[in-house]
Parts: sequence; structure tokens; C-alpha cells
Amino acid sequence: ESKYTKKPDWLRVKLPTGKEYAEVRQIVSEHKLHTICESGSCPNMGECWGNGTATFMILGNTCTRSCGFCNVHTGKPLPADPEEPKMVAESIRLMKLKHAVITSVDRDDLKDGGSMIWEETVNEVRKACPGITMETLIGDFQGKWENLQRIINAHPEIVSHNLETVRRLTKEVRVQAKYDRSLEVLKRLKEAGMKTKSGIMLGLGETEEEIYETMDDLRSVGVDILTIGQYMQPTKNHLLVIEFIKPEIFAKYKEIGMNKGFRFVESGPLIRSSYHAERHLF
Ligand code: SF4
Ligand code: SF4
Repeated sequence: ESKYTKKPDWLRVKLPTGKEYAEVRQIVSEHKLHTICESGSCPNMGECWGNGTATFMILGNTCTRSCGFCNVHTGKPLPADPEEPKMVAESIRLMKLKHAVITSVDRDDLKDGGSMIWEETVNEVRKACPGITMETLIGDFQGKWENLQRIINAHPEIVSHNLETVRRLTKEVRVQAKYDRSLEVLKRLKEAGMKTKSGIMLGLGETEEEIYETMDDLRSVGVDILTIGQYMQPTKNHLLVIEFIKPEIFAKYKEIGMNKGFRFVESGPLIRSSYHAERHLF
């Protein structure tokens, strides 16, 4: 059971408003695209969209997986839309982004795991937006490495793959995923010369010791960037928040993470994998 029933003050955020926000919303809906900002009920929408930035979610809005923390709809997805790469590229062009973050639902139903649309999307964005940099937040492709290779071929500036939680809680939090398989994704990306990033959520019942183990595991496969944020229950049907971690504890984890050798550690209650992603270029 949750230690606190009420959200602490540090998790209160401003509601989205303003002209920039409305423009982003219009571009996204006109191109029939999806964002993880909306699907994930991200608390930073007011800020990010207000600054003209969003994280696109490709391969539709229905996921074949059912992670216990995630608000994206689970089910049988529609066939991949061949127009999607161009639509994403055009939207990013209209938003005049210098750095774009793209993620996707998991498509375990497709033989290529969606990797062809992924590769095409990155290529179309480069074509439409000369000079742009990209971060791709990808799944594990069920360990089908020929699919991961397509991401490597597209060569985004940063590739992220989130562990989301510590080893012990992975089965409950990311039902169809495996902790070691995810580490292998990150390892293979690093061996292929990619800049890599991963993220975890706190407040799911993990111990401090387990957080350090996770940091060490990520460093052991050469991960460059780590994000640490507070888990917030999107609906009553999702995993309970076991604890709201205080901002000063997040600050401590940042320091410890930096000492373990990550190039960047973003750690705070409202940190999300894609928050201020442009700061992680190097
Ligand atoms: Fe979207 Fe990421 Fe910003 Fe949240 S932090 S609103 S998911 S870009
Ligand atoms: Fe959500 Fe899990 Fe699907 Fe990702 S793989 S969209 S976290 S349900």
C-alpha cells in the first residue's frame, strides 16, 4: 500500500496553456501523430509543448506489451502506416526543432519489430530537417538483433533504451521485458559506437542498494546518460506508487551516479527520459 495518498507539492505542475502549446497540439493532430507526452500523461507537457517541443511516438498508438506503469493502450495494433515516417518528418520541420526525440510502441506482432519504419523515419527526418540531431528511444526488439541493427544503421545521435526499474521489479513493471536482455541491447548499441542513454523510475518499491546495482549494471555496458524520475500512477489500474521520493534524495542519486562515471545524470521527481533531451548531446 502507498505510504502517501496525496501527491506532494513538488509534483504539482502548471496546466498547459498558451500559443506555442496550441501550435504543437495542432501540428500533432493535423498529421495524425501520437506523442508519448499525451499517451504517457507526462507532467511536463505545459513546459515542453510551451517551448515548442514534443516526443513523437511512432508505429501507432496501440502497444503489444502491457507494462504495469504505462498508460499506452495494449492490444492488437493496426498495420504500420507507410506514410508515418514522412508525417513525423514534416511535423518536426514545422516545429523547427533542432533536436528531436522519437519513440515507439513495441510491435512484437511484426517480423521486423517495426525497425524498417524506424529506420525510414530517422532518414526522412534528416532529409526534411538538415542539421537536425535525434534521439531514438527504442524497445528491445525481443532480442532480434537484425532489427536492432536497422537502428544502428540509421545512426541517431543518441539511442536510449530504458530499464525503467531495478532487476527484482522488472517482471512486474515491464511484464514482457527482461532486465538482462535490455542490458544486452545497450551493450550492443555501445559496441556499435552509439551514444547510449537509459532511464529508471523510482517509487515502485526498489531499495537504495538496488538503485546502485542498476547504476553499476548500466555503467558496465557503457551507458553514457542516465535519467531518474518519480513513478506516478496514471490510472487506478496501474501499479501503485509505493513512495514519493524527496527531491533531496534525487539530488543525492545524481551525485552518486556522476561519481560512477555517467556523463550526464538527470535526477528529479519530474525528470522523464525525454525531458530537456537536447542537453544530452555531446
Ligand atoms: Fe513530452 Fe518528454 Fe516533455 Fe514529457 S518530458 S512533455 S514526454 S517531451
Ligand atoms: Fe508502454 Fe511498455 Fe508498450 Fe513501451 S513497451 S509503450 S512502456 S506498454
